[in-house]
Amino acid sequence: MKVVLQNLTKIFPSRDKKAGKEVVAVNDFTFEIPDGKLIGLLGPSGCGKSTTLYMISGLQKPTGGKIFFGDDDVTELPTESRGVGLVFQNYALYPHMTVKQNILFPLENLKGADRMPKAEMLERAYAAAKLVQIEDLMDRKPGEMSGGQQQRVAIARALVKMPRVLLLDEPLSNLDARLRLQTREEIRRIQRETGITTIFVTHDQEEAMSISDMIVVMKLGVVQQIGAPQEVYDNPLNLFVAKFLGTPPINVFDGTVKDGKLYIGEEAVLDVPGVADQEVTVGIRPEGFVLDENGPLSCKLSSVEVMGRDVSIVSKNAASLNPVVRSIINADNKVDASKEYVRYTLKAHKVFIFNKENEERIYF
Ligand code: ADP
Ligand code: MG
Repeated sequence: MKVVLQNLTKIFPSRDKKAGKEVVAVNDFTFEIPDGKLIGLLGPSGCGKSTTLYMISGLQKPTGGKIFFGDDDVTELPTESRGVGLVFQNYALYPHMTVKQNILFPLENLKGADRMPKAEMLERAYAAAKLVQIEDLMDRKPGEMSGGQQQRVAIARALVKMPRVLLLDEPLSNLDARLRLQTREEIRRIQRETGITTIFVTHDQEEAMSISDMIVVMKLGVVQQIGAPQEVYDNPLNLFVAKFLGTPPINVFDGTVKDGKLYIGEEAVLDVPGVADQEVTVGIRPEGFVLDENGPLSCKLSSVEVMGRDVSIVSKNAASLNPVVRSIINADNKVDASKEYVRYTLKAHKVFIFNKENEERIYF
């Protein structure tokens, strides 16, 4: 099911009636989510991800704009008529019910013509449980299961009605690191197998990048960039997006463009033909540095961390806007950790420059 958001906007009245300002939680969000894809809605806490999801689900009413499922305008439809499956961060299972009862619950509550015979309900419940691989745990209660298993039950419960759209709001936040990794792969697999259009909300860029067909990066209610994860990583439209994606994060420097050359401090580190003379902010991905004794950029060496396949070099540079500069290079390169300075050549496609005032990308 294709989902279309058209100028979707949500304004909350101020909480403090006198002094407070209203909050524009979601600001003019327009996007067509293709059928059968997994979309990662990504951004820092408070940027409007949940509000967007709640509007799509019908739990919150937009202040402006429209929502379509396929060609149906669902903007005014109540949640129960939209055919959405919802999964939240806290699994919100009924503790006194078994897994089976929890999964059956949405079906048992169907009204009128939607009601189905008990045998069909059970069949559906077992199919959903099988999909998330908990079919052996049907008689347990939530308290007797791990967090990861409970979250699978919540996903099965969301899937059992065969929703047109699956909405997941930070579903992995309560899991430990290993389970988080495993469960996100599971969600990807389930999404592929069912082909249900899925919107996955997270503040964790790595999580979103790893499983999404497309990511939407938001900041303060405003969509910053939409695209395939790799495409957004390789081509950030502004400094915010460049900084938000990537582990380790992008290295940011004060820079100057003069006569078609980019300077960091006194060093001309890269040719940037066609860019007007100006002060800029420079972003260099950790993998954008090449060790080179004669390289133009010098940094004071702090430490060398060997991480198996890669080596991470931690250094300092007066123009760096981060406390340290972190580069990642192949472990085949021998790094002399006793040296005072390292020198680098830069890979041009890993270097981005941004307007100092509005932080928009400047292309070269
Ligand atoms: P996210 O899920 O990205 O963390 P939210 O969508 O929950 O962000 O919130 C976006 C903004 O809207 C925040 O500034 C938040 O404080 C505000 N907000 C969310 N819900 C309400 C509400 N019910 N009343 C007032 N402000 C709200
Ligand atoms: Mg949220």
